[in-house]
Amino acid sequence: MKIYNSKTRKKEEFQPIEEGRVRMYVCGPTVYDNIHIGNARTFISFDVIRRWLIACGYEVTFAQNLTDVDDKIINRANEQGRSAEDVAEEFSKKFIDVMHKANVMDPDIRPRATREIGPMIGMIKTLIEGGHAYAADNGDVYFAVRSDPTYGEVSGRKIDDLMAGARIEENEDKNDPLDFALWKAAKPGEPMWNSPWGEGRPGWHTECAAMVHRYLGCPIDIHGGGSDLAFPHHENECAQASCAWHQGFANTWMHTGMLLVDGEKMSKSLGNFFTLEEVLEKHSAAALRLLMLQTHYRSPLDFSWERLEGAENSLARIAGTVNNLKWAAAHAEGTPDTEPAAGLIAVTERASSEFESCMNDDFNTAGALAAYFQLVTEANTYLDQAGSAVDEEAATVCAVSIAGAFALLGIELPQPEEELPVGLLGVAAGLVAYTGDDVNEAAEKILAARAEARAAKNWELADAIRDQLRDMGLIIEDTAAGSRIKYAK
Ligand SMILES: [Zn+2]
Repeated sequence: MKIYNSKTRKKEEFQPIEEGRVRMYVCGPTVYDNIHIGNARTFISFDVIRRWLIACGYEVTFAQNLTDVDDKIINRANEQGRSAEDVAEEFSKKFIDVMHKANVMDPDIRPRATREIGPMIGMIKTLIEGGHAYAADNGDVYFAVRSDPTYGEVSGRKIDDLMAGARIEENEDKNDPLDFALWKAAKPGEPMWNSPWGEGRPGWHTECAAMVHRYLGCPIDIHGGGSDLAFPHHENECAQASCAWHQGFANTWMHTGMLLVDGEKMSKSLGNFFTLEEVLEKHSAAALRLLMLQTHYRSPLDFSWERLEGAENSLARIAGTVNNLKWAAAHAEGTPDTEPAAGLIAVTERASSEFESCMNDDFNTAGALAAYFQLVTEANTYLDQAGSAVDEEAATVCAVSIAGAFALLGIELPQPEEELPVGLLGVAAGLVAYTGDDVNEAAEKILAARAEARAAKNWELADAIRDQLRDMGLIIEDTAAGSRIKYAK
């Protein structure tokens, strides 16, 4: 399996530290608002990456934090006259709920910053003792960036270029403008904890380093997040952990690309800003995931409502094919042609191996999906050609393979056909004098009665059957493999 390592800017053969085991960490949200679909892209991408690693047989331990103390939370709390704790609690819960709606698996470990203050203080002490951090007169503690000779390697930046950057703010408490806060002295009205440097709270970059060390152990196999986190957040996490424990921090760094809306950057001022919650109110999680996975996780992703509608239609088409294959297999009549059946099995195997090699090539979900879109087209051609003489095994193998591939990516295909209603029996009883209690048998009797009526040109009876079914919200669908009763759309 090859993975693109953003630290080395190369695709590398993936070698877990411990054989058969993968330890991965993905930075979670700061819980001050509902997450937007750009954030969702990162979490869905890493959910798919995790699912594929599990499918490959790795025992995966996945940790993701909740940043529940931060300037943004405190500002939001002040705007709304609430406590920061209250704001963090509300949006932590909303985040977890919406991740469930999006079919994102829960992390194995979900540490929260406010419950990890002790380990963070421990790490800061170690950094001060090692000469990598210092307490300033104002009660802040800073990391001394120049004490880390590898600083800049994660995001590919050079210290001199950073110094030249115009956006470094003046701060006379820092020894060097590049230094960043590990601990911030308490301000009135803010959440605070006791520490050897007085009351205060941790800086944002501190928690992930301490959590990775505590829950996964350094170094880990994969560290991930959105590309906007590479600098300074990931750079600073790495600097702290490597200087505190000298064991390295993460072997492979993975970053997801940006999400654009109709080709433009998403922003509240442009009116093209969407939360995951509102998108999932209008569309299925499966369609959103399909849309996202049709673009490679590192490339910019273009979101639009039209594309989402298109993904919804694609899903219905795929689900329809899976259903038709299963139905045709269950109702097969006559002797199937062996050659087209063998052909269907061959194209199914080809799609499956293409899927696997794409996924093993830096999680190329777009290529993996394309292989199955192609298979769906081939399966439909087969069904048209075979008519009612479908090869049961070939159709079943193909249906299971399609449904399995989508399920593996976390895409649940819509269930186009529900169980037919028991009320159908009443129609059956009235029209064809059926007295049993098996819905499928009743459906067969009705279809047989209709076919007989049509053959005898008894249009009155044929129409009566159709009308009674329609009153119950059912239609008769005539397919190449025969007729069936299903719900009207
Ligand atoms: Zn982080």
